[in-house]
Amino acid sequence: MSWDFSTEPEFQAKLDWADTFVREEVEPLDLVWPGLQFTALEGARREAIAPLKEEVRRQGLWATHLGPELGGQGHGQLQLSLLNEILGRASWAPIVFGCQAPDTGNAEILAHYGTQEQKERYLRPLLAGEIFSCYSMTEPQGGSDPTEFTTRAVRDGDDWVINGWKYFSSNARTASFYIVMAVSDPDVEPHKGMSMFLVPADTPGVEIVRSTGLFGDTEDEGTHALVHYQDVRVPADALFGDEGQAFVMAQTRLGGGRIHHAMRTIGQARKALDIMCERALSRHTKGSRLADKQFVQGYIADSYAQLQQFRLFVLYTAWSIDKHQNYLKVRKDIAAVKVVMPQVLHDIAFRAVQVHGALGTSNEMPLMRFLHGSMVMGIADGPTEVHKVTVARQVLRDYKPAEGLWPSSHLPGRTEAARAKYAHLLELEVGNL
Ligand SMILES: Cc1cc2nc3c(=O)[nH]c(=O)nc-3n(C[C@H](O)[C@H](O)[C@H](O)COP(=O)(O)OP(=O)(O)OC[C@H]3O[C@@H](n4cnc5c(N)ncnc54)[C@H](O)[C@@H]3O)c2cc1C
Repeated sequence: MSWDFSTEPEFQAKLDWADTFVREEVEPLDLVWPGLQFTALEGARREAIAPLKEEVRRQGLWATHLGPELGGQGHGQLQLSLLNEILGRASWAPIVFGCQAPDTGNAEILAHYGTQEQKERYLRPLLAGEIFSCYSMTEPQGGSDPTEFTTRAVRDGDDWVINGWKYFSSNARTASFYIVMAVSDPDVEPHKGMSMFLVPADTPGVEIVRSTGLFGDTEDEGTHALVHYQDVRVPADALFGDEGQAFVMAQTRLGGGRIHHAMRTIGQARKALDIMCERALSRHTKGSRLADKQFVQGYIADSYAQLQQFRLFVLYTAWSIDKHQNYLKVRKDIAAVKVVMPQVLHDIAFRAVQVHGALGTSNEMPLMRFLHGSMVMGIADGPTEVHKVTVARQVLRDYKPAEGLWPSSHLPGRTEAARAKYAHLLELEVGNL
């Protein structure tokens, strides 16, 4: 029987190292260079961050989600989860550890579906942490429903020519290449008529019309681009995966991305709980500490319970992915984790804000950023509503309709059957019938 919640001592030692390293070396980067994680490492930033990356490599924790053949450690998703919940504390941490979104998901599909040449050209520098990538799928008129996509890729001799608009293509501004999903055959059903293409950022016809920012970003800080692809001509070998395979690839890509976000969200939610608890022990009002007020105790207890439930669910799902080695087989739980994730972060961050009073709502604490982050988590990689539909459909697969008019748990019928089963004994009991 192997059903164990403990971590091997060797890996726990690495996690302990990572915890101290992130708190002491990486969290300060968020304060000195906020929002610059996806810009080329130059000057002072290179001087500060390159040695940190080197230290992570020495510890054997660089790109832990990938196998050794790709420069990772092959620790798998469960160990990545334990690590990512530490990295979730700091925006710079995934960059320093070589496992930042969207590059992780992009690297995973490159490793899975890329040709040898594509891996050499795009995957190798991506894994070395020298370039960034962009996943360009969502369109202005349709994000949740890819069957609405209209961006077209047309075969022209030895080339493909891409035309269309994409929205919220994160990091398009700093990425060296884009993975673009486009309709390559409009005459078959959409799930079979879309393909992916690897498009270098400097290909003529690729235009970043604007880089949209999130709430709180200043106007020029946006990283989620509206991209216009106008007669973008790429050679035949820019086709990524098989023609018509984009839907399956997208599921693989987004499965990984979603669970990795969830792992990091544990770190953020825990940080919010840490901040809340410290405040509860520090602030006095009406003759006692906040920690002695039952309402605040309720906030803390509810937050702890939610966080534990969520963390165990994420770890279980990561373990299942390692077991099946296939995101599609764990689709139900990945979708369910995605549904729970924004709520958990929202609830804990909201309570932490409340316990801090005015200070909590200010830009002098990181809590409003977590709260906003929870809303982003409810949309990015697919809205909560869509994931609930997936969960419900997958859950329903394990059930079948009742055979007759009444539900199978209808008590009159069940009681009658139970009495029939024990009739020979019931007859002996006086007054039982
Ligand atoms: C921070 C961030 C980063 C992102 N990065 C990328 C990226 O790098 N590349 C990329 O391609 N995309 C990216 N996206 C886009 C993201 O994938 C889409 O926002 C998402 O798929 C939802 O699409 P939409 O915004 O068009 O919302 P819509 O599809 O318009 O949905 C809006 C709302 O409609 C409702 N709704 C939609 N469908 C259903 C349904 N079936 N049933 C019930 N209600 C429904 C929900 O309330 C939903 O929130 C990013 C988004 C964010 C917020």
